Amino acid sequence: MVERHDVILGAGLAGLSAAYTLQNAGQSEWQVYERNAEPGGLARTVKIDGYRFDYGPHILFTIDDEIRELIQDLLGENFHAQDREAYIYHHAHDLYTRFPFQAHLYGLPTNIVADCLHGLLRAVESQARGEFRPKNYLEWMRGFFGDGIADHLMVPYAKKIWTIEPDLMDFSWIGRRVPTPDVERIIRGALSNDVAQVGATSQFWYTKCGGIEPLPRALAARVENIHLERAAMKIDLSEKRLFFEDGNSVPFRRMVYSLPLPFLPRMIANLPPEVERACAGLEYQGIYCINVGIDRERISDKHWIYFYEDLFPFHRVSLTANFSPDTVPPGKSAIATEVAFSKYRPIELENAVESTIEALKASGLIREDDTIELVHTEKISPAYVIYDLDHARNVETIRGFLRENDVWTVGRFGEWQYFNMDHSLRSGRRAAEEILALST
Ligand SMILES: Cc1cc2nc3c(=O)[nH]c(=O)nc-3n(C[C@H](O)[C@H](O)[C@H](O)COP(=O)(O)OP(=O)(O)OC[C@H]3O[C@@H](n4cnc5c(N)ncnc54)[C@H](O)[C@@H]3O)c2cc1C
Repeated sequence: MVERHDVILGAGLAGLSAAYTLQNAGQSEWQVYERNAEPGGLARTVKIDGYRFDYGPHILFTIDDEIRELIQDLLGENFHAQDREAYIYHHAHDLYTRFPFQAHLYGLPTNIVADCLHGLLRAVESQARGEFRPKNYLEWMRGFFGDGIADHLMVPYAKKIWTIEPDLMDFSWIGRRVPTPDVERIIRGALSNDVAQVGATSQFWYTKCGGIEPLPRALAARVENIHLERAAMKIDLSEKRLFFEDGNSVPFRRMVYSLPLPFLPRMIANLPPEVERACAGLEYQGIYCINVGIDRERISDKHWIYFYEDLFPFHRVSLTANFSPDTVPPGKSAIATEVAFSKYRPIELENAVESTIEALKASGLIREDDTIELVHTEKISPAYVIYDLDHARNVETIRGFLRENDVWTVGRFGEWQYFNMDHSLRSGRRAAEEILALST
């Protein structure tokens, strides 16, 4: 009789969280296989010439009490909470407004504020008549906030980050992601420079030292049986055997899978046609992280800034030295930009770097007399799941099939959702609890 393992694919936060939960409940036989030389997946940090860059700047926040306790426990003394200083840049008007746009209209030209409030009131009237029945994200933005807020910011920003037209997108992901202040708050924010913060990230957490990576490292230190540099290549579901790129294989009993679902057909031969079709139907975009080191202290007092105008290739810029001074050498600053690309918006990295530097100068963040000390890039793909109109159906088909084969899918790319770190931690724990419930 072959001895079969229970396996976890991927030592990102979701895989680690599943392993930790199972181990704490006495199931310490689970083996975690990770392709990279270190655990952490997307929640890692690179160090170059004294600068630290996350794989896309990663701030922590959650409304999940258990996960908050876990994060605080893992980071211990390295946990640092701070109030958000997030803004939107309006190049056309040479000004910044606070994030979220809709709660801080004050300071914008009067005609824009009037457009936004007029649209909002019409939207509220229409909602009161029971006419708010959006069929896609574009209709949601227009119906919820009105045409003014949609046209002046939300639609151009959505096109930039998602790379597809918002009428091709579902809006089920919105939840707490698009801050939805009430009408009174929006009006107050238009009439006065009310700085009261709105939304889930109004206070956020980061580390004092080490970037975001100390989080997965602390979790990994508590997990036994992590095998690094073991890239999974094929899964034979009928024989229940996992093959690695190094030529080895192991028989398995149960599997927790945190790898991207669209690549499943490369891993598993002879998927049922409907599962193969569903995998091919999954949409995503990628992110170029274009990180710049500047030889000048405190180039900005902001944490991060959103850019919606076409002049700027990036949708967000983070001033990471303000997250933690430990991310830059003394006397320096860093700018971490994120540029979205996809098959719908193909961009070459080289062109993105060039246009990003030019745009950073146009925004005033980089001055003509600044010395750019380094430019470091990372390509992340997939980065964000796109919620096209078939998203929910495709995901259900794939996950349902895998579950029938003793494979639990977890995490941002295993569940194929817009997950933050807290969601990925919760997702791993949820799958583990399901497994434990079935084991008793
Ligand atoms: C640009 C960007 C910015 C973000 N910013 C934030 C933020 O500010 N705050 C926040 O909370 N969240 C943020 N997130 C989301 C956060 O990074 C994720 O939710 C979380 O880290 C995902 O963890 P995971 O374990 O689900 O997936 P992953 O981190 O992708 O883990 C999957 C693991 O599987 C491994 N793997 C892949 N292929 C194989 C293979 N063949 N064999 C073995 N192992 C394999 C990978 O190397 C990886 O370690 C951001 C994400 C992106 C892309």
